[in-house]
Amino acid sequence: MSKRKDSCSFCGRSGVPLFEGLDGAYICPDCIERGHQIIAEENAKNNSGGKRTGETDFSLSKLPKPKQIKEFLDQYVIGQDDAKRYLSVAVYNHYKRLALAQGVDMPRQAQAYKDVEIEKSNIIMVGPTGTGKTLIARTIAKMLTVPFTIVDATVLTEAGYVGEDVESILTRLYQEADCDLQKTERGIVFIDEIDKIARKSDNPSITRDVSGEGVQQALLKLLEGSVVNVPPKGGRKHPEQEFVHINTQNILFICGGAFDGIERKIAQRLNTQVVGFEAAQQAQTIDKDNLLQYIAPQDLKAFGLIPEIIGRLPILTYLKPLDRASLRSILTEPKNAITRQYQKLLALDGVELTFEPEALDYIVDKAIEYKLGARGLRSLTETVMSDLMYDIPTQQVKTFVVTRALAEQQISRADTTRIRNAI
Ligand code: ADP
Repeated sequence: MSKRKDSCSFCGRSGVPLFEGLDGAYICPDCIERGHQIIAEENAKNNSGGKRTGETDFSLSKLPKPKQIKEFLDQYVIGQDDAKRYLSVAVYNHYKRLALAQGVDMPRQAQAYKDVEIEKSNIIMVGPTGTGKTLIARTIAKMLTVPFTIVDATVLTEAGYVGEDVESILTRLYQEADCDLQKTERGIVFIDEIDKIARKSDNPSITRDVSGEGVQQALLKLLEGSVVNVPPKGGRKHPEQEFVHINTQNILFICGGAFDGIERKIAQRLNTQVVGFEAAQQAQTIDKDNLLQYIAPQDLKAFGLIPEIIGRLPILTYLKPLDRASLRSILTEPKNAITRQYQKLLALDGVELTFEPEALDYIVDKAIEYKLGARGLRSLTETVMSDLMYDIPTQQVKTFVVTRALAEQQISRADTTRIRNAI
């Protein structure tokens, strides 16, 4: 072992930050990382097969019921009841499948269905950006006892092209599960921006569509439940690593996407369906301002998802655009509402912060005027609060009220492009 002051005693590299140990030994961050990985893999190997400490108990009576899951979501996510209900049921069913896989005692009524295999119900959520898709997924993750990861489909490309291979999704889940294969195989993956891998044109042969159909084909393998060879450290940077074989049979996939412009496809479909007297009557009842509620699998196909992928995402749900009342509620009601976060921050300085309702109305007005949606609420509130957060801790005050006049003054002084860019 070399003990030079300027090089790692393990790999010999120099010119990197080094941590000094006893007896003049040094270690670089890469070697620490590698050591951590090896220990995690060893632990996972030793654990696989047998019962582990911390093994999740999936006994049927202890599973959170859909109503409880939804009530939990309600604390953080405003509105979007349909999506929350679908998700709650899907997560509950996911747990049930895991319970069966673990061989729990079945109630007498279920004995008759011993040979019935319950198929996995992956989910797809469609809704404008900033309406809560990721928030719902993240919130569900908070209450889960299975590993959960969020990946962005925009970085995925066909194997061999610049970008990430589809298998990297499972690498992330594997790492999230502390390299424990069994845990990984019952995890949940949220794939964001799934619409970005839609086929770019109707004729796939016109141009090389490396981030479209090819990625969908690769993704299909994961969704349908198969054994996938996954590089545990991810990427192509570690060619020496041994693959782990992950069975995706019990991994639940939730996909989300804005599908910009899909309303046109929905409208087209609804129009072509409309023939005859009864249909004409039906056409009158269609709510043209919110076409997303009528979304059907064929609209996803028209948008550019391949039928095989759509078939593997049997639960299709939508999120509504947020109206003024919802935006107003988002400011104050969720457990982590932005105004509550500021109240907590200043409470730590011993200051009681309150917001005049008119100040909050003004912030909502501006979010709508600038078309910033829910994401804008945060940047606008930050704009209002930034000077105060600087001044208040050194002022001898016990209470502070954010008035409409103050909100107007701060927002009108701010650069709107900066606010827009902040979201
Ligand atoms: P997307 O639909 O694009 O995934 P996000 O879930 O990332 O949108 O929403 C962005 C932010 O806007 C969230 O972090 C949250 O602060 C706020 N937000 C959006 N929708 C809601 C909602 N329905 N309830 C509460 N907050 C929301």
